[in-house]
Amino acid sequence: MFFAVITLFPEMFEAITAYGISGRAAKRELIQLHCINPRDFAEGNYRRVDERPFGGGPGMVMMAEPLAQAIQHAKQLAKQAGCTDVPVVYMSPQGQTLHETAVQNFVSYDGLIVLCGRYEGVDERLIQRYVDQEWSIGDYVLSGGELPAMVLLDSIIRKLPNAMSDEQSAVQDSFVDGLLDCPQYTKPDLFEGLAVPEVLKSGHHANIEKWRFLQRYQRTMQRRPELVEQVELSQQQKKWLKD
Ligand code: SAM
Repeated sequence: MFFAVITLFPEMFEAITAYGISGRAAKRELIQLHCINPRDFAEGNYRRVDERPFGGGPGMVMMAEPLAQAIQHAKQLAKQAGCTDVPVVYMSPQGQTLHETAVQNFVSYDGLIVLCGRYEGVDERLIQRYVDQEWSIGDYVLSGGELPAMVLLDSIIRKLPNAMSDEQSAVQDSFVDGLLDCPQYTKPDLFEGLAVPEVLKSGHHANIEKWRFLQRYQRTMQRRPELVEQVELSQQQKKWLKD
């Protein structure tokens, strides 16, 4: 999948390309990630990308022109890579809040161009002309769009075919089928007086599957009851709940 990120801090994206699942995906060329610095498209000796807001008030605003050129450059790179379905996404606290279904939808695109704001944000006219979607990672404000962009990229990359060595583990993740994940245990058998549930050591796969489902269901009921209302249970799962 093609990713181009418009950012004043390209070095931050080493967190994506150098570590973990996303790092392996980059090394195996399942993704290509281009970081484009709008400063490279800014004019003048100081290569300014921000200016004071019209109307006064605190802070600075990212100027439309360098961002527009950076996005156009990203679009050219996408075209050269043979990618046509590549929306421009602006990470913004004012966007829709990111969720599992949205992440699954992103996987179906050829690529994404992700714009990271800084300061008070970006000139509204740039958003009007160049941005297709605005996404937030939650109702709080960060200093820049880089961390939100990395959250978005990581959530997509782990869903790409062959990105994870054990794809089954992604299928069992929280939210994938609407429920939260079950509790997990590993060695040792006893930790500070707490034992691993016997069923998990029984080797009885059907009982383990039932136990895990019931744990997931109860946990979701306790922590996120609103999610349970939307879940479509299988016949087997309904039977387990009645037992
Ligand atoms: N003044 C803006 C507002 O209140 O809507 C916030 C600007 S914020 C300090 C700078 C940049 O960080 C934003 O342009 C956006 O790209 C990014 N950002 C901050 N919080 C975010 C969030 N919750 N989700 C996505 N992006 C966020």
